[in-house]
Amino acid sequence: MTRTLCLLGHPVAHSISPRFQQAALDALGIDAKYEAWDTAPEDLPATIERIRSGDVIGCNVTVPHKVAAMRLVDRPDAMVERVGALNTIINRGGLLHATNTDVAGITGALREAGIEAGGKDVVLLGAGGAARAVVVAMRTAGAKRITIANRTEAKAHALAEVGGPDLDMRYAPLDAADPTFRRAVSEAQIVIQSTSMGMLHGPDETGTPVPTELFSPGQVAFDLVYVPEETPFLRAAAAGGATTVGGLMMLIHQGAEAFRLWLGQEPPIDVMVKAARQALAERG
Ligand code: NAP
Repeated sequence: MTRTLCLLGHPVAHSISPRFQQAALDALGIDAKYEAWDTAPEDLPATIERIRSGDVIGCNVTVPHKVAAMRLVDRPDAMVERVGALNTIINRGGLLHATNTDVAGITGALREAGIEAGGKDVVLLGAGGAARAVVVAMRTAGAKRITIANRTEAKAHALAEVGGPDLDMRYAPLDAADPTFRRAVSEAQIVIQSTSMGMLHGPDETGTPVPTELFSPGQVAFDLVYVPEETPFLRAAAAGGATTVGGLMMLIHQGAEAFRLWLGQEPPIDVMVKAARQALAERG
């Protein structure tokens, strides 16, 4: 019997997860299809019930369902509680287990680029859903300090409890002209960009929260945005001599972790990356 994996979101047509997950399934000869299930918020409870059926192995969950789905599963794990959202559901005999693999995605992308966050001074741009996973990843890695720069100050402060008592957390306005921001960025060893700036068709497609002159060699710039792969933030960082890490590797590694949990097999990362890049290129 061909089994099913799916992505729940609204909309989902733009997502490249079906392409790279299917490529990994095919490469390993697993008889399963990965489908995009466009699910309006009012249909979420019924759709999640459908995942309990025997042929569905599990699913990825994306915007806008990552928080709402938490109360519809049976066994959300500690990572769901810590991040405050889920992105993966695993059907174990009709019982729905859930986790959040975004932290594994962040850790995997940094590891693959040979970057160690332990003991480092980090600046995090943005304080939305993805930023929460960054704070958990930095706390787990043992980062020394994290300065959160966000347009809306209250959202940055709300992340304090995610960091816990051992992580030195500070705030700076998200403003390239502000002295606190400029000092925090230029002194940081790792700068992580988690706002929607620079995202194709996003609120500020051509914008970068950090100009080139604040970067220097020896710094790492990691952008969670992956469309386009080379974002304005990463271009500014590279021009300033920083090492750059793109968001596509985070997307692949969060998907790879979900794949391991669903199937108990190691997915071929290179196959996933190739399929993801091809899907992005076809989208133009
Ligand atoms: P979100 O919860 O909506 O948060 C958006 C963040 O961007 C907030 O901090 C918001 O600031 C800020 N922002 C939006 N427009 C802005 C602008 N014009 N100027 C300055 N700040 C602005 O979104 P999210 O889920 O955290 O996702 C953020 C980005 O990360 C998206 O581009 C998403 O594609 C990417 N992402 C990538 C991965 C991956 O696997 N690579 C995973 C998750 C997310 P305010 O708080 O002031 O509104």
